[in-house]
Amino acid sequence: MGGLRGIGVSPGAVAGPLIRMATRPAAGSAPPPAVEMPAVEVDVHGENAAARAALEAVAAELETRGTRAGGDAAEVLAAQAMIARDPGLADLVTTRVKAGWLAPAALADAFAHYRGILAGAGEYLAARVADLDDIRDRALAVLSGRAVPGVPHPGHPYVLAAVDLAPADTATLDPAEVIAIVTEEGGPTSHTAILAKSLGIPAVVACAGIASLADATVVLVDGGTGVVDVEPGAEALARAQAREDARRAALAAGTGPGRTSDGHGVDLLVNLGGAEDLTVIGAVGPAGVGLLRTEFLFLDRPDEPGLAEQREAYLRVFAAFGGRKVVVRTLDAGADKPLRFVTAPDEPNPALGVRGLRTARRAPGLLDRQLAAIAAAAEGSEAKVWVMAPMVSTPAEAAAFRARARAAGLAVAGVMVEVPAAALRASAVAAACDFLSIGTNDLAQYAFAADRMAGGLADLLDPWQPALLDLVRLAADGAGAAGKPVGVCGEAASDPLLALVLVGLGVTSLSMAPIALPAVRASLARHTLAHCRRLAAAALAAPDGQGARYAVAALAADQERVAAG
Ligand code: PEP
Ligand code: MG
Repeated sequence: MGGLRGIGVSPGAVAGPLIRMATRPAAGSAPPPAVEMPAVEVDVHGENAAARAALEAVAAELETRGTRAGGDAAEVLAAQAMIARDPGLADLVTTRVKAGWLAPAALADAFAHYRGILAGAGEYLAARVADLDDIRDRALAVLSGRAVPGVPHPGHPYVLAAVDLAPADTATLDPAEVIAIVTEEGGPTSHTAILAKSLGIPAVVACAGIASLADATVVLVDGGTGVVDVEPGAEALARAQAREDARRAALAAGTGPGRTSDGHGVDLLVNLGGAEDLTVIGAVGPAGVGLLRTEFLFLDRPDEPGLAEQREAYLRVFAAFGGRKVVVRTLDAGADKPLRFVTAPDEPNPALGVRGLRTARRAPGLLDRQLAAIAAAAEGSEAKVWVMAPMVSTPAEAAAFRARARAAGLAVAGVMVEVPAAALRASAVAAACDFLSIGTNDLAQYAFAADRMAGGLADLLDPWQPALLDLVRLAADGAGAAGKPVGVCGEAASDPLLALVLVGLGVTSLSMAPIALPAVRASLARHTLAHCRRLAAAALAAPDGQGARYAVAALAADQERVAAG
């Protein structure tokens, strides 16, 4: 029929019926205003029964989802189901209905009453407010016959369409059920895009018009090109299948360590969030893990995971990588990855607030307990375990982090360069720790003052922007001067062409979604280190991101033609 266009962020082409996700009110939103008192007499029995039935329907649905998901999710969802079935809550509803309120108003007000008690009861209980709001929204949706907010579970595979998705929604997606994701908003480095890629689910973001298509419309999603075909014909489907077969064949080909054609070694590592199938990752042959995003392991957790539970989660990853390197990042809680057990609920400007390592200012014990759990897991495994801190701004922060890691028994401790200040002072930051890892996603966000969730700012967040590459160069030079390794673990590392530029800028390792690794390995093998340096110079000399991409693509194609004779 026609096509929509967005930004492809996770490759793969797949067709299926689309289902829209009902929008969720903003986290922490106030309860809906109470409905006007009716002029007519309320059917007390009927309204009360309707409200209670809505609560029971929500509880049953949460329980079913929990049973299907298993593990931690089952526990969390069972606890939420218990809240929905709380007799105290039901009594509050009944009291209000008897006072002449209709069921929706009675429900909303009963929840508001509970919410007030929790919000005033300190940080720990305040975090439960989000759970309560979620149950309230679900119950009100059931009562009014609207779609229940959150990821749908129709019982068959489908393409999920949404205005945007929270990382917590994306992390729990089942790739067998959600075969592709298309969002109206969201940028290419948003955590939703990163999670989709790590789960191997084809995804397109910033796709205007997707949320207005009717449910059950068949769409063909190409997460590589960013094109979404609406009601594709047989020919388009066949072409997409052929492209997909070729992509998979290319991925299956080629293994071995990363190196340029003249033998300059570059460690090719994978980024993990913990939800991946580790047996599949083995097939792409990474040199290890360059970024284990530990916060993704605990996104849905209502409270801090204990030492034994954390140890087990880390050990699972370490065991899969034998004697290889695994870089564990300590919790990067905050901004778009709030963790209920530590992130302050109402920070006015969370991306600039207490996130990443800064969380340790408010909750120092949390970092020390995590380091202890990582050390305990490292002891029980062969893996070479390194730790690193997110959102480091100064040499003093880097030094303090290394001291704490060493105190926990972890010998190699580095920091991420995600804040321009750290790139500008990279040699001092590198001297204060053991290695640097450049997080180009946040570095772009903070260098360009552009929210990485904002699809409309994708041009500013483009990792090819020469100003961002200047910061990468500074970080690489600084680490080199201090004699320390420097990697890139942001999404920039997964672009086969940009990877050449990063190597030319002096980066010593690249870490990316497993799905991207074979293409980056193949790209490196077609160029010498001198080629990479020339490509880096061309990128830095360009006026903007698009110009850098074109200049490097043209030069790399020339280099390949000459090399092929
Ligand atoms: C980054 O910012 O580039 C990075 C790798 O960290 P995250 O995407 O998890 O914020
Ligand atoms: Mg980051």
